[in-house]
Amino acid sequence: MLPDWSEQNVWRWLFTFYDAQQLEDIQKAWVLNTQDSKLSKTLHLVACLSTEQGQAQHLEPGFHRLEAGLDTPHPNRQVLLTHCVGQVADTLKELEFEADVVSLDATAAPCNRWTLQALARCCRRGTQVWVQPPPESQETEPSLTVLLSQTGFVAYPNTPTQTPALSPQALSYTYNPKWYIKTQRRIWRTPAQEPGHCTVVGAGLAGASVAYALARRGWRVLVLDAAPMSAAGASGLPAGLMAPQDSRDDSPRSRLIRAGIALTNQHAQRLLIEGQDWAPSGVMTLTTETWHPSGAWIRPGQLVRAWLAHPLITFQGHTHVARISQEGTQNWQLWDAQGQLIHTSSCVVLANAGGAFELAKTCFTPLAKLPAVEQLQGVLSWGYREAEDPNFAKHPVNGHGSLIPQFPMPEGWAWITGATYEPFGNKLELHQHHQHNLERLRQLQPRTAQALAETFEQNRVRHWVGTRCVSPKRLPCVGPLEASGLWIHAALGSRGLSLSALGAELLASRIGAEPWPLSNDLAQHLMVDG
Ligand SMILES: Cc1cc2nc3c(=O)[nH]c(=O)nc-3n(C[C@H](O)[C@H](O)[C@H](O)COP(=O)(O)OP(=O)(O)OC[C@H]3O[C@@H](n4cnc5c(N)ncnc54)[C@H](O)[C@@H]3O)c2cc1C
Repeated sequence: MLPDWSEQNVWRWLFTFYDAQQLEDIQKAWVLNTQDSKLSKTLHLVACLSTEQGQAQHLEPGFHRLEAGLDTPHPNRQVLLTHCVGQVADTLKELEFEADVVSLDATAAPCNRWTLQALARCCRRGTQVWVQPPPESQETEPSLTVLLSQTGFVAYPNTPTQTPALSPQALSYTYNPKWYIKTQRRIWRTPAQEPGHCTVVGAGLAGASVAYALARRGWRVLVLDAAPMSAAGASGLPAGLMAPQDSRDDSPRSRLIRAGIALTNQHAQRLLIEGQDWAPSGVMTLTTETWHPSGAWIRPGQLVRAWLAHPLITFQGHTHVARISQEGTQNWQLWDAQGQLIHTSSCVVLANAGGAFELAKTCFTPLAKLPAVEQLQGVLSWGYREAEDPNFAKHPVNGHGSLIPQFPMPEGWAWITGATYEPFGNKLELHQHHQHNLERLRQLQPRTAQALAETFEQNRVRHWVGTRCVSPKRLPCVGPLEASGLWIHAALGSRGLSLSALGAELLASRIGAEPWPLSNDLAQHLMVDG
């Protein structure tokens, strides 16, 4: 029997196993059964894959948010899929949400007491659980039925099991322990906010990605920016690179960047024009001599505009937010510098880079402890080139600095290299920035540097200047600043393209109490409430 989809707007369905056909069947049944509803609905499927199943799909151990191929025919229906590759018991411990429905297949992986305890942590009182029991020959002592009962799962033996996710032999349970549910582990869960209205401050990569993640879940989002148009800050660079970061110990930062690039690539594929707005070019990292096929160049402004084009998002420029305050316990007020009220909203996301940390300080309520961020200025050097120029490599390279050898600009093909990385007080002259960039280009691509030396010397090189907001951990700050509806997504540093979509998905998942795109172990490196 399928759940009654009309009961709630978000359904979180956890599979302790992986079966592509069953996931597809659920998705189809959900679309069919919710088509009469006017409300926006999200179905979030989480499937556990063994390492071998992951390998077959080219997925490394860990969590993977998948978007491609899951578009539904209805604009206000969204299906999200998270694949978790690894041992089921380990995966269950890394999940940070409460499932509405669970499909548990004891024939696919052994189910012991510890697995069931980890599963119970992912259930709320009332979670519906479908269990495919093991064949009699594989029954253990105590039996699965006994273990389920000891862990708080109550059987409903008479319920017919017509769910497309399991065979008719499946048993129906509900998580309803006789005891008070408590946990000794650190819980990062926030209460689910139903889709409503949200105001986002900042229309760069951080703000636009959050607005898009929320709009896809049915939120109406107002995006405010001090500038007249979007992508007016650091996100306005002509072209930027997404390149994985190699580290000997595969550090959390390296893993986060990899997960982020995988997600941004999916967004780019869905929303941007290949060859014009971005290209999955691959990147050669010269410091480690590694070819990264997932690397890509992107024109960030195009991605920002594509995200903001969602019909539920409204952009309002010329709106500088100078102060925030809380009205009662429900609403946040946004004020301009003249003391005029701009807007009141029950959900506000501060996504205006360094300004987010300033705005957080204007609020009287004690907020989460925020790190001291740095503003680091940078200059990119760029210029136009002939389409066929043998002095340029075919693909981007990075190391100390980077070179995108070819991307389209309004007047033709362009190259871009840099960038410098200077604390705000360091006042370098423009020609000094260019000189630094040329020096680094000589290390990266001597032939290209030689070919461009004259352009640099004769001041015919163009520049783009911007400021990065950088946290001490060199990772974004994501999460709730206050229990009731004030959030932050900022300090994207030099990695806005790699990390904005991932941070936005994490934030939207927390706002809606949905499955996260990352294991909690990895996500906590981004959390402001950690
Ligand atoms: C020189 C340089 C090169 C870079 N190269 C790359 C690269 O190759 N790859 C990569 O991934 N990243 C790169 N980055 C980093 C990337 O540009 C940033 O990480 C990203 O753009 C940050 O996005 P954001 O939305 O946080 O900030 P921003 O894009 O700066 O957006 C903040 C927005 O908030 C608005 N705002 C600020 N205060 C207020 C207020 N009080 N009220 C209303 N609006 C406000 C601003 O007008 C602005 O539009 C580079 C950055 C620089 C400077």
